[in-house]
Amino acid sequence: MIGKMSHKLFNNILTIRSMTSICKSSRSAMTLALSNAYINGKWVPAEDGSTFPVKNPANGKLISEVADMTANETEAAVNHAAKAFKQWKDYTAFDRSKLLKKWYTIMTNNQEELAQILTAENGKTITEARGEIMYGTSFVEWFAEEAKRVYGDVLPSGFKSKRQLHLKQPVGVCGIITPWNFPNAMILRKVGAALAAGCTVVVKPAEDTPLSALATCHYAEQAGIPAGVLNVVTCSHKHAAEVGKVLCGNPKVSKISFTGSTETGKILMKQSVDTMKRVSMELGGNAAFIVFNSADVNAAVAGAVSSKFRGSGQTCISANRLLVQDQVYDEFCEKLTKAVEKFVVGDGLEDGTTHGPLINEKAVDKVDKHVKDAVEKGGKVLIGGERLAKGPAFYSPTVIRDINQEMAVCREETFGPLAPVIKFKEEKEALLIANSTRMGLAGYFYSQDIQQIWRVAEDLEVGMVGINESVLSAMNIAFGGIKESGLGREGSKYGIDEYLNIKYACFGGLH
Ligand code: NAP
Repeated sequence: MIGKMSHKLFNNILTIRSMTSICKSSRSAMTLALSNAYINGKWVPAEDGSTFPVKNPANGKLISEVADMTANETEAAVNHAAKAFKQWKDYTAFDRSKLLKKWYTIMTNNQEELAQILTAENGKTITEARGEIMYGTSFVEWFAEEAKRVYGDVLPSGFKSKRQLHLKQPVGVCGIITPWNFPNAMILRKVGAALAAGCTVVVKPAEDTPLSALATCHYAEQAGIPAGVLNVVTCSHKHAAEVGKVLCGNPKVSKISFTGSTETGKILMKQSVDTMKRVSMELGGNAAFIVFNSADVNAAVAGAVSSKFRGSGQTCISANRLLVQDQVYDEFCEKLTKAVEKFVVGDGLEDGTTHGPLINEKAVDKVDKHVKDAVEKGGKVLIGGERLAKGPAFYSPTVIRDINQEMAVCREETFGPLAPVIKFKEEKEALLIANSTRMGLAGYFYSQDIQQIWRVAEDLEVGMVGINESVLSAMNIAFGGIKESGLGREGSKYGIDEYLNIKYACFGGLH
């Protein structure tokens, strides 16, 4: 399936400057990357021709120069989305479903291409990128089905002369802003639900990873999603605020759905107040990963490896604080260190790489700051703890023991390959530490004590909890957080409701 995109069909794409620098493996034949934004079914450059560079974090090489849009082009995209909404909302749910299924099928047939683009711009390993494409596209299939199950209600009426109904209607144009850590899935999880509900969208992907977003538009076009229904406005960080202001402030936009940091989420919520928009916020985490004395330590170590180090620790549900009970503390630290020793850090496209670079040097700086702070305050590095010579975006997978609450790593999301291990004695103490944060996205714990399992599952202040399990995400579950980790849910039977209004209709004068 690799290399199926042809110049004829896909005339807005650039030849990647150095194919071998991006696709070192012989099995890879990715030759193309995107450069223009996608507005009203057209591939368009910025009005003033400005572009911003998208670079491969593994080697710093340029992949593409992408259109750097501003408020003007965003206004235009909103207008097109508003016009398209008038038609798209009147498609039957069955017709929208068919188009979404077609889009899903085309993306699935081209998943290797999508995965290669994702690894090139994000750095995650090709295995993880393939997993993300399967995960991301699964939302399009899921919501293609959900489109046909948007039921209203016929209510038992309290009046003989009245009949009362609840109708569900699409909210309208949705502004969607997404991060770089899941450049495909964070977009499709929102767009799948929005389009299924009958909404149209204007998407602003992250500066670091616009190519995966544009690639999905290419396949939407092939699937026959009408012009104006799906729009992607690309921009550099320099223009992110002005693009965001248009999406939040324009009265033609009815909803903002955002995934990213809590800090940015708060800005966008404030900006959405004047037009009383609906908002969905998938924000930052600070997940506790608790291992109790009764746990299967080997299972807990395997869980910690996947939860802490997937995407080199750059997932919102990554374990941020590992809390281990005193009797298994030493064993856990030792086994986790041995597991981390086996990691192979490198270019995500190279065979054998288990962990890629971070997204950029700024991300490495934050990990290094947390490591230095922990060491200064008494933490003992068991493995890693340093930048790697492979490139400025690489940091060694790190395990630190003897962590305490004074350290920055306990209070902030590290978003990198640092596993800080805290020792605790009592269950209550672990819960107190776990809940001592304003974040409440995910939490995990390992225990074989059934009483404890129920207590802790209920008492952890999070939107999602893994019990003897570290892999939580799937299209059928309600993904989301509480406290300052967000509002609303994505995926599952609830995800589509975020894009629907309930209208109450009362029929009177009946006999
Ligand atoms: P971020 O800085 O908030 O950026 C996310 C998106 O918002 C990017 O597209 C960014 O554009 C844009 N943006 C930044 N400032 C903006 C502004 N003033 N107005 C409008 N848009 C603006 O977050 P990040 O550092 O990229 O992502 C990591 C964070 O996302 C972590 O906290 C992680 O936990 C969270 N996250 C949460 C979930 C979830 O489902 N809860 C999933 C993934 C990630 P630029 O790229 O141009 O800066």
